[in-house]
Amino acid sequence: MIRDFADLDLDPVLLQSLEEMGFSKPTQIQASAIPVALDGNDVLASAPTGTGKTAAFALPAIQYLLDFPRKKPGPARILILTPTRELAMQVTEQVKSLAKYTRLQIFSITGGVQYQEHADLLAATQDIVVATPGRLMEYIESETFDCRAIEWLILDEADRMLDMGFGPVVERLSAECRWRKQSLLFSATLEGHGVENFSARLLKDPQIVQSDPSRRERKKITQWYYRADDLPHKVELLKHILAEQSQKAIVFIKTRERLAELRGMLEKASIECAWLQGEMPQDRRNNAITRFRDGSVNVLLATDVAARGIDIPDISHVINYDLPRSADVFVHRIGRTARAGKKGTAISLVEAHDQPMMDRICRYQKEEIKERFVDGLRPQHKKPVFKKKKKTKASPAKKTGKKSTKRKK
Ligand code: ADP
Ligand code: MG
Repeated sequence: MIRDFADLDLDPVLLQSLEEMGFSKPTQIQASAIPVALDGNDVLASAPTGTGKTAAFALPAIQYLLDFPRKKPGPARILILTPTRELAMQVTEQVKSLAKYTRLQIFSITGGVQYQEHADLLAATQDIVVATPGRLMEYIESETFDCRAIEWLILDEADRMLDMGFGPVVERLSAECRWRKQSLLFSATLEGHGVENFSARLLKDPQIVQSDPSRRERKKITQWYYRADDLPHKVELLKHILAEQSQKAIVFIKTRERLAELRGMLEKASIECAWLQGEMPQDRRNNAITRFRDGSVNVLLATDVAARGIDIPDISHVINYDLPRSADVFVHRIGRTARAGKKGTAISLVEAHDQPMMDRICRYQKEEIKERFVDGLRPQHKKPVFKKKKKTKASPAKKTGKKSTKRKK
């Protein structure tokens, strides 16, 4: 049973940087993936967003380089691929922090950077390179990047890479790195997206490491909901939450149209926000994420599709302006707050017709979500009553109690 980073056979220089970063205990995926990777296995790992996958692959990779130091200067030994430039930046930063007390050279290669900057950097000795697939492939084709020395290939957010159509280029990169010793594939999910097929082509006899929507990590999310009578009431509640309760909030909305509508209303109320929606040009997307991340704005409006894969630390509140279509999407959404080791709050706005979904969500996550009220914004309608604490399917309370004697099972 692994409880501490010290149980993981990591170098003291890593333990020191972990301590400085405030990582006191490994997350579940870290505790399971790190030993398996250090034993020399290929790894197929999945864990929900925000559960510390970066360190789960970065720590064994760094440890490997410390265990087998290079004898002479040369090209990169570890290649980490991420689907987007913004993720590459984040991963690079985290790897650099973890490797703070080593002499390892860490670089990133992504689009949007002047060629000359990369050219200089590619001449240098590198240990770890974090790259987006498209740009890296260009460098390989122009022979400015040499991947013959790659010993580990790590794919981060494989599900998202496939969604974004990077499958073929990643497979070509994998072929370029054919002399590697080990491959690690990390993903938020293994279902759908073709991740299993993809991993079968990239990994050799992988050890599969999965971490459930970890209870320990999920527990730190405080949840409640407010009932809303109608749209205007809902908007008032949201404004109240944004003004009085939250520091940094992501607000989930069902559709693009509703997002645009809400945006207008918040603007009128002088609440500044950034937003993400599907089919948004990459630069505007990045711009929105950057503004939210660096705190220029403290509210991010997003649809589920648009919010996929983004990783922003320190989200204090997840607000479900609309409930999602399914309970697992709900769990995914709220997982964006309370990042490993921190606390977070998830607030849902529930209209009468949402009540059955709310019940389903509670059953799914095996946790009751309590109702709260805002003075002056109490709902006018009575809470639709559904049978509590019974396994029977929710059915509206009978006022007359005469006709419907049959209950659905
Ligand atoms: P994922 O890739 O699974 O979405 P990240 O690797 O981005 O998650 O980590 C999410 C957040 O949790 C980051 O802010 C990271 O610094 C923090 N974190 C990771 N591991 C730990 C840990 N063991 N203890 C505390 N915080 C951690
Ligand atoms: Mg990640």
